[in-house]
Amino acid sequence: MQNDFLVTSVPVTPKTSRIGVLTWPYLIELISKALKIDPVFSINAFHSYLESSDVEIKKYLDFLHGNGVYADDVYIDRNHLHRIKKLVQYMFSQNLIKIENKIIYRCSCGRVDVLNLENDIQYDTAKLYSIKDKMAYCNFCNTECKPYSEKVLVMPVDISKCQEVQIVPNLYESYFNNLYKKFSNQSFLISKNRETGIKVNLDGQDFNIDVDFSWMLFTALLPDKNKIIIAGNRHILKMMKIHYVNSILKQKSVIFLATSYNMKNLDFDETKAFFEIEDANYKKLFLLYHQSWNNHTNSRIWDKSIYKFLKKQTVEKRERLYSAIMNTDIKITKNMQEKMLLLVKNINLSKNYKQIQNIKE
Ligand SMILES: [Zn+2]
Repeated sequence: MQNDFLVTSVPVTPKTSRIGVLTWPYLIELISKALKIDPVFSINAFHSYLESSDVEIKKYLDFLHGNGVYADDVYIDRNHLHRIKKLVQYMFSQNLIKIENKIIYRCSCGRVDVLNLENDIQYDTAKLYSIKDKMAYCNFCNTECKPYSEKVLVMPVDISKCQEVQIVPNLYESYFNNLYKKFSNQSFLISKNRETGIKVNLDGQDFNIDVDFSWMLFTALLPDKNKIIIAGNRHILKMMKIHYVNSILKQKSVIFLATSYNMKNLDFDETKAFFEIEDANYKKLFLLYHQSWNNHTNSRIWDKSIYKFLKKQTVEKRERLYSAIMNTDIKITKNMQEKMLLLVKNINLSKNYKQIQNIKE
């Protein structure tokens, strides 16, 4: 094992309703094997205080196991509540986060609780509310988001503290840097009015820490190594926040891997196709080949031809196809970001097929 790196994803909600949730675990496993680094499966359990939460996590891990991923090393944010609170207190003592009087926009149900309606709707929590006649309305309770002046906890952004931005594919680098420019000298709201389950007392006042912020601390709670973190290409702002927190907490470097999404294909039932064949390599290749790092900006639909191709192959051929992905020049490349780029570009059906055709029987 190359011991100074680990690979993980942003903490995921333990869901089992869609096959797409297996893409990240499959990538974690592949990258871990190809680069000989430790895998960590990160789970966000703070979203739910239902009694079933432990049951949901178990169901999720069973789902991974049942589909070919042995997730031994699991990070569950909720198990680190004490350390999260300590980190928030540490950040406050170091002036990395501050108590300030701000105008907050909030709806009746409290789901919308934001600092800057315009920035949020452009970059982040847009699905929480909509703008009608220049007013914001909550999409859940339909009430107007009204301004309140109150003491809140914020994290000011000072880009001089940032570590180098490393992201694969590197076409997102400029987008990432532009976000930093956009949010430079602005602040992110990190406390909420509602109960979040993460209460911290600072300067004699209780603050409910935003769940989203708590999981942005996760790089400091994982083992002290350089990290490859998988995240969706629609969530560059989330990556930027993780990167910023990682920088100001002076953690080791982070390389992000952005994945793309598949749109529904009305002529093809991807779930049925996925579960049709039990072979784990079939399932892994089916999802991995739906990622396309050579042409990443175009979103793609679930592709029947990938299914047809894989279905035709023998179990042994599929195993070779999977191994062929790892068969790149990554060994002689020193830089980890370049290794990653080579690896993901090698997840290429026709190229891998040619590679295995060249092997003598
Ligand atoms: Zn509401």
